[in-house]
Amino acid sequence: MLQPYLKYVNVFIIIYFSRKLPWWSAEAQFVQFGVATNPLSVQYIKGVGPRRAELLGRLGIETADELLRYYPRDWQDRRAGTLLSLFRQDSYSVFRGKVLTAGQIYTRSSVGIFKAMLSGADGARVNAVWFKHGGMRYDPFAALKKEFTPGRDVWVIGRPSNTAGSEIQVDECYFADNPESAPHVNRLTPIYPLTEGLSNPFLRSIMWKALDAAQKTGTIEIIPSALRAKRALLSAGQAVKGIHFPDSAAELEAARQRIVYEEFLLLAAAWEMKKLGAKTENKRFTYEIKRSLLTPFKEKLGFEFTPPQKRVINDIFSDMRAPRPMTRLLQGDVGSGKTVVALSALLLAAENGFQGAFMAPTEILAAQHFYTMSRFLDGLKVRFELLTSRVKAAARRKTLERLQNGELDIVVGTHALLEEDVRFKSLRLVVIDEQHRFGVKQRAQLRRKAEFADLLIMTATPIPRTLALALYGDLDVSTIDSLPPGRQPVETARSGEAEAFQLVREEARKGRQAYIVHPFIEESEDEDIKSVSEQFERLSKIVFPEFRVGVIHGKLGGREKSAAMEKFVSGETQILVATPVIEVGIDVKNATVMVVQNAERFGLASLHQLRGRVGRGAEKSHCVLVSDSPGATAGERLAALCATNDGFVLGEKDMELRGPGEFMGTRQHGELDLRAGDLVADKKVLAWAVEDRERLFAADPKLAAPQHRAFRGRLMELYSKKWHLIDMA
Ligand code: ADP
Ligand code: MG
Repeated sequence: MLQPYLKYVNVFIIIYFSRKLPWWSAEAQFVQFGVATNPLSVQYIKGVGPRRAELLGRLGIETADELLRYYPRDWQDRRAGTLLSLFRQDSYSVFRGKVLTAGQIYTRSSVGIFKAMLSGADGARVNAVWFKHGGMRYDPFAALKKEFTPGRDVWVIGRPSNTAGSEIQVDECYFADNPESAPHVNRLTPIYPLTEGLSNPFLRSIMWKALDAAQKTGTIEIIPSALRAKRALLSAGQAVKGIHFPDSAAELEAARQRIVYEEFLLLAAAWEMKKLGAKTENKRFTYEIKRSLLTPFKEKLGFEFTPPQKRVINDIFSDMRAPRPMTRLLQGDVGSGKTVVALSALLLAAENGFQGAFMAPTEILAAQHFYTMSRFLDGLKVRFELLTSRVKAAARRKTLERLQNGELDIVVGTHALLEEDVRFKSLRLVVIDEQHRFGVKQRAQLRRKAEFADLLIMTATPIPRTLALALYGDLDVSTIDSLPPGRQPVETARSGEAEAFQLVREEARKGRQAYIVHPFIEESEDEDIKSVSEQFERLSKIVFPEFRVGVIHGKLGGREKSAAMEKFVSGETQILVATPVIEVGIDVKNATVMVVQNAERFGLASLHQLRGRVGRGAEKSHCVLVSDSPGATAGERLAALCATNDGFVLGEKDMELRGPGEFMGTRQHGELDLRAGDLVADKKVLAWAVEDRERLFAADPKLAAPQHRAFRGRLMELYSKKWHLIDMA
């Protein structure tokens, strides 16, 4: 019987004596309840057994410190100001009152009900109710019956079940005479993000205890006092208390600000460390502009580079020839001609015998780039291949082999390029397209495959300066600020389907061509293919029987896809029914209408991309957005699109509409170790951190001074493994 517990006793004895804890100390007490060997483990906290420790582990919480860094996602106002009467906020009610009567109500159904009538200090009465389901053999309300004695002072929190608010379905209840109710009521109460098996009352209770313990032992301060004073920040101890259990909204705000600042300063410092580490490193290879590929490429293009393209190519080439690795952001609106610029860079690498990788965020984009390469590079002495997860095993193996042997110069692909088994002989240039769709981790992964490689990042969405600093440390920016000649502004409007089809008919009669795009999500589901086929049937047979209609979607094989495209390019098909597969790449000057069905289901950037498929010839072009019931934000998106053709304006609008956090993979907080901070919403604090980082490193480049030691320690703890940072002190 005792057997299973003996090992606990052993562990206790070992830890107790080896650490010589005073027997009354909190730690020694906790040791008795667990088998934890890490003295800071959450298992030391009373109430946390092995099972719950495991659940906490799923949230990334193993130590008390990590627990305290698990911040609430929200706070509920359960304060004394509203103490004695009912109030409602959103969907929850809080009520404090004395028990008048309480008891079980017997119903014929299997639902058991317990009801307590409570009387508030101002005379308000509220019925608190609990429901229990199922034919339980034991009495589900035994505990409530015992506790709810008349006259007892009680708090209930729950959902109001009638509009008058005189009845509450109870989620949580606490007795005012129980000191353990302190974390839960009569205050601003934290609400945590949860995982299955853990509840807010539980997290709140252990957080309260952990905080109590931390305040007794003191919290380690990592922000140098000079910076804390300069920005008037709370101390570490004050901040951790204030974020979990604030006494006022002002305290909460101050606590959050301090925590966000700390996160940003660490992030900014991590970049600086990385940069200082890299500064001493050279690429150890050089480029020569041989033109053995560049000249034939230019001849094959059939057009001149625009002045901004020339300027940008110059920037890139001189970066590539410099000893320090390139980190350049190339921004330019949809259709501004970024791809051919990237190809020029890839060809410079190939001319010099080096490999390049071109990573796109989706299968379709990657396939389109591959298609573009085939168009412009076929016949040149350069070997390129496509690598996505759709490439068949045998072909994939062959490609991997050729990459490793150096028999391929360029590989274009998706995330598939990041996989372990993709190895290069001499990867020297990494190009990332539509970079905002990739996470920070993915970018870092690709870069790691090629240490000191040059990095070219392309985007149609401009990045604010401070954000670039946070995401990349720093990068140089080139902009293509005008479109190739011959582009026309596209007239964009919302309309019904019938009108849209009428426009298609009119244009087709004039000999023009049209796209009709349907939003089939990811095109992986068979359902989607079924529905695109149905649409195709309907459009070709019923709506446009007099015209030649083609169809293209992501499930078509490469050959079918290019056959469908070629038919449209040659004018053999007049109307192309498509999934967003045509978002990029297709370039048909005679196409003058783009109809987007269910336009509300597309993002702003995709819509702008789609629109970029028309307006390429001399004729006036139209983009028609068909949407029956856009929500408020979707409506704004469509309105923005109708109002402007300027991709940069739309980019800003997009950021605004999507809200902070969703922009450019900044949601990927895990990778950056941002738990409280949001790179977009907290841009003021971000600017502080970036500025203070400069001073910090100017004064003490290795962070070796005693007042910086704690900061350096945390920095290494968070980033050394993940970012390969080297402690230089
Ligand atoms: P982005 O990637 O910037 O959206 P692309 O590189 O796909 O744009 O270019 C859009 C189209 O414009 C392509 O068909 C490309 O061949 C063409 N293009 C690029 N540069 C020029 C140029 N200087 N003159 C004419 N057409 C160009
Ligand atoms: Mg592009």
